[in-house]
Amino acid sequence: MKTSCEALVIGGGPAGAVAAALLAQAGWSVVVLERKSFPRRKVCGEYLSATNWPLLVQLGVDEAVHRQAGPAVRRVGLFVGEHALTAELPLSDVCGGRWGRALSRERLDSLLLDRAAALGAEVLQPWDAQSLTEVEGGFVCRAASTTTAETREFETPIVIAAHGSWEFGELPTQLARGRPRAGDLLGFKTHFQHAELPDGLMPLLCFPGGYGGMVHVDEGRISLSCCVRREQLEQIQRTEGRSDGEAVRAHIEKSTPAVRRVLETATTGERWLSAGPIRPGIRDCYRQGIFRVGNAAGEAHPAVAEGITMAMQSAQLLAEHLGPQRDAIRTKQTRDVVGRNYTYAWRAAFARRIRVSAAIANWAMRPTYVQACLPIIKHFPKLLTWGARQSGKIDFPSRYEATTDAGRLSPYLAE
Ligand SMILES: Cc1cc2nc3c(=O)[nH]c(=O)nc-3n(C[C@H](O)[C@H](O)[C@H](O)COP(=O)(O)OP(=O)(O)OC[C@H]3O[C@@H](n4cnc5c(N)ncnc54)[C@H](O)[C@@H]3O)c2cc1C
Repeated sequence: MKTSCEALVIGGGPAGAVAAALLAQAGWSVVVLERKSFPRRKVCGEYLSATNWPLLVQLGVDEAVHRQAGPAVRRVGLFVGEHALTAELPLSDVCGGRWGRALSRERLDSLLLDRAAALGAEVLQPWDAQSLTEVEGGFVCRAASTTTAETREFETPIVIAAHGSWEFGELPTQLARGRPRAGDLLGFKTHFQHAELPDGLMPLLCFPGGYGGMVHVDEGRISLSCCVRREQLEQIQRTEGRSDGEAVRAHIEKSTPAVRRVLETATTGERWLSAGPIRPGIRDCYRQGIFRVGNAAGEAHPAVAEGITMAMQSAQLLAEHLGPQRDAIRTKQTRDVVGRNYTYAWRAAFARRIRVSAAIANWAMRPTYVQACLPIIKHFPKLLTWGARQSGKIDFPSRYEATTDAGRLSPYLAE
């Protein structure tokens, strides 16, 4: 059986769900394929920047996020060794004085995908997109249910790859499995109850061979998420000899007493999740006729906690570019023009954030460098506020108007 739709979205995480919701809201016929059943837990710190509020309002989920999320996050912190420094987060005047909040991925992702379905997108779950074939006027995607033997084919002029960057597969947009390297960053996450983290504080944790973050999420829990270099993890496993997650926790607590104090009273009923290696960097936003959003297009180091925001906002950018072309989009020429303009807008909005995140991550993984900077930061705590601003905490992609003038595209496309 072949089903036709105007847009096929592969992946139902924040990027895919928002792309599907916005296109469905504009009247497009949209199919979403998501290989996992929701709700599902995910490696992530779960912080959502304040700049998402206008989009959450547009989608009609702002009240639900407001009701369920943890307390307003007003302060950024830096935990290294014994030291715990804090400063104000920058506040944007464009989001009505609202602050960022954190919501567990089992809740956020379900909320967004349910909203896409309520707005008219057909959501197939758990369904795996297995192959894409280019045909006249677009693509045919072959998909299979992961719980039954059922398979289906979808014919569509627009494919939006929103499958993230940490899983492998046969699609032309999926990253190849690389050989393990010492510098690979592996992601870990769990939730704790009864932790002693002050409300509204989100510290960056700096420890040898990795970095992490903590923040209050829903139900009185905090998330602790981190990235650890593979070679460091192997060394930790040799000395700690426990499960990976518990060994990582022991390593962080040993090297960063500021974290140990927060977790002294904490309990956890959840097992640690792991993922990766993560693949930070700038990728193609449009290639071989396929659009990409979220981590599939580019990924910031989690040190800046901007990945969900970039996922949702890149989907919004793409929907803004596709919207006016609905009638013409079946031609490859139109798709190419939209692809170029979207790429330009994406890079203007997110490329700097990704570069800043790499600089912060490389610094945070070397606590001796961080400690060397402490006297200056203690004297000028606003440097932490400045760092948060540089990482995009109050940037809006919509500030960057897309252009249809091909001449203006080149500086970004040439990178
Ligand atoms: C340790 C750590 C902490 C982080 N903390 C934060 C934070 O606090 N704040 C923040 O904003 N970001 C954070 N991030 C980053 C954030 O998790 C990601 O950037 C974000 O999940 C990207 O969203 P996405 O929709 O692009 O991809 P994903 O969330 O990965 O969603 C992709 C979806 O596609 C599905 N899929 C994959 N392949 C297929 C297929 N072939 N067919 C069908 N479905 C498929 C997957 O099942 C998945 O549900 C963190 C990351 C790490 C590693």
